[in-house]
Amino acid sequence: MTQNLPPPIPSLIPETAPFSEEQRVWLNGFFAGLVSLDGFGVTPISGEQAASLISGSGANAKAAADDDGGAPWHDQALAMTERMKLSEAKPLRWRMMAAMAQQDCGQCGYDCKNYSGAIFQGKEERLNLCVPGGKETARMLKKLFEEFKTAPSEPPTPAAEAVSVSETAPRYSRDNPAMATVLSCRRLNKPGSQKETWHVELNVATRGLDYAVGDSFGLFPTNDPALVDAVIKALGAPADFPIGGRTLRECLLDGVSLSPAPDMLFQLFSYITGGERRQKARALATGDDPDGDAESLDVLAAIEKFPGVRPDPEAFIEALDPLQPRLYSISSSPKLDPRRVALTVDAVRYDIGNRRRIGVASTYLAERVKPGTTVKIYVQKAHAFALPADPSVPIIMIGPGTGVAPFRAFLQERWATQAPGRNWLFFGHQRSNYDFFYEDEFKSMKSSAATPNAWPKTLRLRSSMSSLSTACAARKRLQHSSAS
Ligand SMILES: Cc1cc2nc3c(=O)[nH]c(=O)nc-3n(C[C@H](O)[C@H](O)[C@H](O)COP(=O)(O)OP(=O)(O)OC[C@H]3O[C@@H](n4cnc5c(N)ncnc54)[C@H](O)[C@@H]3O)c2cc1C
Repeated sequence: MTQNLPPPIPSLIPETAPFSEEQRVWLNGFFAGLVSLDGFGVTPISGEQAASLISGSGANAKAAADDDGGAPWHDQALAMTERMKLSEAKPLRWRMMAAMAQQDCGQCGYDCKNYSGAIFQGKEERLNLCVPGGKETARMLKKLFEEFKTAPSEPPTPAAEAVSVSETAPRYSRDNPAMATVLSCRRLNKPGSQKETWHVELNVATRGLDYAVGDSFGLFPTNDPALVDAVIKALGAPADFPIGGRTLRECLLDGVSLSPAPDMLFQLFSYITGGERRQKARALATGDDPDGDAESLDVLAAIEKFPGVRPDPEAFIEALDPLQPRLYSISSSPKLDPRRVALTVDAVRYDIGNRRRIGVASTYLAERVKPGTTVKIYVQKAHAFALPADPSVPIIMIGPGTGVAPFRAFLQERWATQAPGRNWLFFGHQRSNYDFFYEDEFKSMKSSAATPNAWPKTLRLRSSMSSLSTACAARKRLQHSSAS
């Protein structure tokens, strides 16, 4: 517990300054926080630095740096320790990749390889973007980055090109999202279900927002206002405290994550508390778990764990992680109506202690948006997940729960294009009587599969799936077989 503690707070306020000891401790903490809370204190590195670190020296340096050896760590089933072991003999660039969660999920705006490449090239400063990797990945990246900064500099070589980030520059992106309007939100489960899944339709009548079936939408949520107000109350700060032209409440609503309390928050607390509480905050900031509750500490719980802690609101906001977009598979085909996009969203809710926790984005869509609400979105292109180019190739789709979302889009697309290939959908969920999503639609597809040409072409672009005609055989198996 005493290892890896952060260095003591630098004394920025002179002893002779007219402050009490308590005030001096607080001010030292506050200023130390302000100067160091810049995204793990990371200074972006130049392409040359990156090149020197990945290249090494000698004639074969470039080839060695480019060679990921088949990236054996690129397996999401492996634990962090195993991934780091598999990459330990590799240049730092690959070890950074191994620190990611290996899901290529795109939530950070990259795949794992390109995220590490972007950090290396100094194009990406944020080390805390890997959502599935969470704090574990952020901590490892920070450690590797420290190594990177202190490594001896080598002359640059062309090897930097080997880590180029995907340069496709769509008009709208994670950094430049488009606006969409919510058209409707409809519960997919029947009354009595223990699940809560929503069919959300968005109007995306925005030019330049090109998507295909298989892609996902990145969506920027806002935090639950009730949670925001509880955090403000626990902080004892005024909701309208001004921070960079906005109020504290506004920053908390859409600027920062209130989910797992980040290390930097505990570091900030360690600056402004004393004695045992400081030791505890420092331990939490370095990944220790002195009370065995670290996993359950969201931002509110973290404040409540240190009753009376009163960080400066601006330093507090600086210490939190940015609120990140979430991805949702597109569950409709643009061939039906490119402006009307459907998503299929499971609301995340669970209890810890006596407080209900809620997923930010899923409950944003389930309960906080209304028809007419505008939301910020972008397209996250799928990697190697698409319909076969040849429409006559048969496809088998297996998508339990909301996993059915992209396959609904596939089926719609095959219907709209009158693709002759056969389609098999395996779908299952908790209880078929309550949780058989899109039941009518899939059954209609299946029953009309035998007569694919019986429908006039004018029907082909209608979005009413109840009148679908297609060569689809929608099959549902697992524990329920009513559609097979
Ligand atoms: C490519 C891709 C496509 C996706 N498509 C879909 C889709 O079509 N539909 C869909 O619903 N989701 C989809 N997701 C998942 C989605 O992006 C979000 O992760 C999900 O909706 C939860 O986000 P949230 O903001 O609601 O929850 P968050 O605020 O991110 O909270 C989720 C976190 O809560 C914690 N948690 C959840 N349950 C519990 C529990 N019981 N106990 C303790 N902790 C818990 C976990 O740490 C979990 O990581 C997709 C993800 C990816 C990467």
